[in-house]
Amino acid sequence: MCNKPLQEILYNLAFQFCTMFVFTTINNYHKDLSNGQYTCAEAVNIYLKNINEKQHLNAFVEVYTKEAMAKAIVLDEQRKQGLPLKKLHGVVIAIKDVICYNGHKVTAASKILDGFESLYTASALQYLIDEDAIIIGSCNCDEFAMGSTNENSVYGKVLNALNETKVPGGSSGGSAVAVQANMCMLSLGSDTGGSVRQPADFCGIIGLKPSYGTISRYGLIAYASSFDQIGIFGKTVGDVALLLEIMSKPDEKDSTMNVLKSTSEFAKHSPEKKYKIAFLKQALEHDGIDAEIASKIKLFQKDLKDNNHHVAEINFDLLEFIVPAYYVLTTAEASSNLSRYDGVRYGHVSKIVPENLSEFYLNNRTEGFGAEVKRRIMLGTFVLSTGYYDAFYSKAQKIRNLLVKKITEIFDEYDAIIMPVSPCTAFDIGQNDKDPIAMYLADIFTVFANLTGVPAIALPIFSHSNNMPFGVQVLCNKNDEVLLLQISDMIMEMGNK
Ligand code: GLN
Repeated sequence: MCNKPLQEILYNLAFQFCTMFVFTTINNYHKDLSNGQYTCAEAVNIYLKNINEKQHLNAFVEVYTKEAMAKAIVLDEQRKQGLPLKKLHGVVIAIKDVICYNGHKVTAASKILDGFESLYTASALQYLIDEDAIIIGSCNCDEFAMGSTNENSVYGKVLNALNETKVPGGSSGGSAVAVQANMCMLSLGSDTGGSVRQPADFCGIIGLKPSYGTISRYGLIAYASSFDQIGIFGKTVGDVALLLEIMSKPDEKDSTMNVLKSTSEFAKHSPEKKYKIAFLKQALEHDGIDAEIASKIKLFQKDLKDNNHHVAEINFDLLEFIVPAYYVLTTAEASSNLSRYDGVRYGHVSKIVPENLSEFYLNNRTEGFGAEVKRRIMLGTFVLSTGYYDAFYSKAQKIRNLLVKKITEIFDEYDAIIMPVSPCTAFDIGQNDKDPIAMYLADIFTVFANLTGVPAIALPIFSHSNNMPFGVQVLCNKNDEVLLLQISDMIMEMGNK
């Protein structure tokens, strides 16, 4: 945890600079550093001050006060000596509490990992550090990344900075709020079924989930391994693209990686370029969608047409199968992944003296896991059990195959699919406490990209009459991140007009 006296000195220092430092983009920040307008230490001070002032939002689990400041001072010194700036020189980044960082605590917001310290650093995080990023702390999330509100955390709920009676979304709620409320420049989350895109949507920032296999999962605590991807929160497409470019480096420690067409090809979109874009009819006409979200996206569809893009509303009759397939497959994978937390290999050990080994496991896991994680382990064990495997697990795999086939057909014809991120804006705190199914159903638009492995991004271009933000979600074909980012750039520009 933070060192109090040092923190106070830093905050006081920060106070003197707080009118000076404003972060817009990494590019502008680097220009300002080179011109001597700010220092990395000043930037870190401002973020530490914001983190301190906004502690009640509960976005951070741990703040690396001393080491962030120490790194900033080293970088400032290097610049003075005229050393060239690396790509993420002094860029202040927060990470979700499911990403391993050697020598730092990582708990997946679970009691079962209380006090656990990483023995190595996740490859993706190492790539950022190698480019001189400053890691400022780890962020709150739903336990083992299971949830849509950040209310299932051993550290308590996270508040949405735009309206503190609302959730920030989940499971990467802390990482989203850290960017939303200017407690860092960018942050990392993980996205198994929407956990980067949905909180980005609820908080009014950008959230990218790359194609499955684009960013190494080495050092990411597993929830459902054939779905999990590290994702990025930021405020501009260019910054998100830069982090993606750096983190998508191949890693022999993750055998599921693909080689991505380099994102350094990413440039601002050219205004003459026109895209073929599909909207899914059943998504916009879905019973559960907020009427204002549907109507604004319909108007946006028209705007794209008016800008001479080729836009079509296509039939997608598999929508109702998506959420059940996702919850059968991810809980099955989770039940296996989480079996390692037994008090022997990892995890909390109960003080109750057991009579036998089964009781030892039972006590440790009963005390260590929260209710939602237990529910999913039981669901996953059930769908994999003899007699039910064919009825649930095999069927869900078949649906997954159908979805991949369907999306491939769509991308044979279209550059991108656009749909909502979430059927509603940020929920009220406690709204879905008693009804996990209602919560699961709200994942209807995000889990499609994880089931099919394609890249998807949430772009915050609208404001609801309830004053909460929302946006559109763009999906492109697998490994077509360059196209996804160019279209995103175009959409953000349209949104800014
Ligand atoms: N809300 C989804 C779930 O609870 C997403 C989780 C995630 O992407 N980690 O499974």
